[in-house]
Amino acid sequence: MGGCLSAVDNAVNDFIDKESRYYKESNNAKDYAKNEQNSGSHAAAVLSSELSPVYPSLPKGAKQFHCKNVYDGDTLTLANGDRVRLLGIDTPELKEKQAFALEAKEYTKRYCHGKDIWLSFDDNNSDNNKDHYGRLLAFIWVPMNGKQWLCINEGLVASGLAHAYSPSKSKKIHNYDKMLALQRIARKHSKGQWKSYKDFSVIVTPNGSAFHKCKRKGKAESDCKHLSRSKHLNVIQASDAYDRGCHPCRNCLG
Ligand SMILES: [Zn+2]
Repeated sequence: MGGCLSAVDNAVNDFIDKESRYYKESNNAKDYAKNEQNSGSHAAAVLSSELSPVYPSLPKGAKQFHCKNVYDGDTLTLANGDRVRLLGIDTPELKEKQAFALEAKEYTKRYCHGKDIWLSFDDNNSDNNKDHYGRLLAFIWVPMNGKQWLCINEGLVASGLAHAYSPSKSKKIHNYDKMLALQRIARKHSKGQWKSYKDFSVIVTPNGSAFHKCKRKGKAESDCKHLSRSKHLNVIQASDAYDRGCHPCRNCLG
């Protein structure tokens, strides 16, 4: 049992600690910890909490595929030639040599490259689960210990190797709030790309899903072309913008 749990420990990358309020608040975790087999294991308690990226079963409708190649943290190809973009996240860009891009790729590669993986979609009944590049937008699942399932999308965010990402404010993925909570915890614990993170002032608009660079520190002025028609600019901290589910503007903060 010990070896088994330490494997899972690695998988969730120790993203949450015993002092976290999520640990204390989770009744599931308490119940699980009562189980003699798992007593004393922090990982066991966390893994049964609602915020764990490891699940006891696959979601309904998940389908098995073979992963041929992993390009970067959030893109891979299936043996049938289909390309897949991991849903709800954004990993650092390899070609732009962004920090932790390699680590994000390694994470996805470790679990998926040349292996059987399972895909689920935000709407399993829809025929259209593709983006405008023709890539399947999916959650990726891999087996752990033969009886649990790791959601790679959530695991990347929990490990600080991806940002939670919702391209549209109107249509949210089903686990969006969980993704934001995982991101907040990763930031709090300085995991992955949050390691050297320092907060800074950014500009947001009431309905925009991106946050933008301040032309002058702390001032609601911007040179970004995406804001040329926006009247209501507000200055907030980037951490608050992330917590709201906003992502850095690709034009001015890319
Ligand atoms: Zn911008």
